[in-house]
Amino acid sequence: MKGRVAVLRAYEGEFELREYPVPDPEPGAILIRLTRAGICGSDLHIWRGEMKDVYGAPPRDLTFGHEMCGRVERLGAAVTTDSLGQPLREGDRVTFNYVFPCGRCRVCLHGEMADCPRKARPIRVAGTPPYFNNAYGDYYYLRPNHFVFRVPAEIPDDVATPVNCALSQVLYGLTRAGLRQGDTLVVQGAGGLGLNAIAVARDMGADRIITIDRIPGRLDLARAFGADHALSLDDLPTPERRIQAVRDLTDGFGADVVADLVGYPHVIPEGLRMLRSGGTYLEIGNIVPGSVFSYDATALVRGNARIVAMANYSPWALGEALAFLRKNLRRVPFDRLVSHVFPLERISEAFRQADWQRHEGDALRISRAALSMAT
Ligand SMILES: [Zn+2]
Ligand SMILES: [Zn+2]
Repeated sequence: MKGRVAVLRAYEGEFELREYPVPDPEPGAILIRLTRAGICGSDLHIWRGEMKDVYGAPPRDLTFGHEMCGRVERLGAAVTTDSLGQPLREGDRVTFNYVFPCGRCRVCLHGEMADCPRKARPIRVAGTPPYFNNAYGDYYYLRPNHFVFRVPAEIPDDVATPVNCALSQVLYGLTRAGLRQGDTLVVQGAGGLGLNAIAVARDMGADRIITIDRIPGRLDLARAFGADHALSLDDLPTPERRIQAVRDLTDGFGADVVADLVGYPHVIPEGLRMLRSGGTYLEIGNIVPGSVFSYDATALVRGNARIVAMANYSPWALGEALAFLRKNLRRVPFDRLVSHVFPLERISEAFRQADWQRHEGDALRISRAALSMAT
């Protein structure tokens, strides 16, 4: 039996679909037949060549993609349950972590595996056994004894696809930032991360949620996801005016938590100035090397500011994210997040579309595309 893997050989270029033999899972491993994969902002960074420092220039038979869900095709010996102890059988829908904390180092022992300095990353060179190491392919080989969660029946695939990235990431980040009942939150950027953050913060008991973006479609969606105030960059064209707007909406104090979910470092100084004294800045957005900003350290000291920066999340967050989804399916229109679904064989077109939407900022579209592997 063979399965397809999408391979990128030139940045901003076409993908090539290659076939590889589908492996049998070793004891403890799981072979998953993927049904959906998402095109995330970070995948676009990779496709555009903005992460050459990491993946080489030119890319070396690059295969990637990290947002996905699928069905258990075959269970390795001794796998009988998911990470929450629920029985796991062939055919069950699952989601899983795409980075692999070692679980055996002094940082992991502190209890937050997101911080593991030895966490293994996905294999990104096509043709490396067990071949199915990323989201853009027919299968995924989940390495032995890794974290995996059964997807509740009521959560459709399109909603489940970004759970292992955006949703778990913001749920984890807001928890680490210490967001509490009654807090005010500013979300910079109402893209995939931002919209999920709004919905999660509402569920966590935030009192007032303010978001800032330029694209009208995203601002509408932000309100539907639970934002009290969706501010447009077109109405407030300068940082000074946006900072003042946040002050006005927080009784002059500034926000308890401000989260950068944009991905460009120039928003950070502005966001830091939106904090109340003693507030927390949550940095998640920037993942491209060389994203430099400058800020007055004395202003941080005088503002008693706390900065929390997060890459990835601890496995517990994925389990909680599924529970959050099940609880909020009726309240939040998660099904509006993915606007375009392309079959895997049209992956090149899907990337061009997703990228075009980002640059043009078409008000009528949402910038989320997904791939379908269903046959
Ligand atoms: Zn992602
Ligand atoms: Zn570790």
